[in-house]
Amino acid sequence: MICENLEMIRAAIARAAGRCNRDPESIELVAVSKRMTGDRISAAVACGQTIFGENYLQEARVKIESLPSSLRWHFIGHLQSNKAREAVRLFDLIETVDRLKLARALDRYAGQRGHRQDVLVQVNVGREPQKSGVLPENAEQLLSAMAELDHLRILGLMTMPPRVSDPEQSRPWFRALRRLARQLAERGCFADNDRVELSMGMSADFAVAIEEGATMVRVGTAIFGRRP
Ligand SMILES: *Cc1c(COP(=O)(O)O)cnc(C)c1O
Repeated sequence: MICENLEMIRAAIARAAGRCNRDPESIELVAVSKRMTGDRISAAVACGQTIFGENYLQEARVKIESLPSSLRWHFIGHLQSNKAREAVRLFDLIETVDRLKLARALDRYAGQRGHRQDVLVQVNVGREPQKSGVLPENAEQLLSAMAELDHLRILGLMTMPPRVSDPEQSRPWFRALRRLARQLAERGCFADNDRVELSMGMSADFAVAIEEGATMVRVGTAIFGRRP
C-alpha cells in the first residue's frame, strides 16, 4: 500500500511539475512519518523514499538511530531552544526556525559540532495566533539577524497555511510565501539566492503548492494513511 501511494504521489508531482514547466526532479518529497512506526518507514524506504519529516524529537531519535544512516531527516515541528542541541545532532534540515533565540542556539551547537546546519525559516503566512512562524513583515529582520550566524545555512522558507476545505484556497498563501521569498532573495538573505527552497504543501494540496513554486512538499497521510 505504501509503495502504491508513493508511486501515485510521485506521478502527481510529475504532473503538477509538467503543468508549470518545472523539472520534477527539482521537487523533493518529504515523507512525514510522525506517529508512524519504524516498520512503516522501512516499507517506504524499500520503495525508494529517502527523506522523512518528523515533528517530535523524542520520537524521532528512536527512529533515526535505528534506521539506515543513509536516510535524510527534516525536523518540521515546533522546536524549543533547549532542544536545539539534540535537533542539530539528529536532523539534516530544520524547517521551523522562527525566532532569533532558537537560531542562535542552533548556531552555537552546530559550531560545537564543527558543521553548518541547514535551516528554513518558518513563516506564519495566515497570521494565525496558535501557529508558529515569523510574521511576514518581520521575516526580513529575522533573516538579516541570522545572516550573522556563521554556522547556519538559510536555504529558504517553510509555511503551514490555514486549514482549508478546498486545496485551491491554499493557493494565495503559497503565492504569498513565494513572493516573500523573492523579495528576501533580492536582498541576498539566503545561502543561495538563485535557488531558494520553498517547503509548502501537504497531502491535500501539494499539487497546488508545486504550481506555486514549492521545492519541497511534506506529505504524510497520503503516503502512510491516517495517523493513529
Ligand atoms: C503532519 C504534518 C504534515 C503532513 O500532513 P498530511 O496532511 O498528513 O500530509 C506536513 N507538515 C507539517 C508541518 C506537519 O506537521
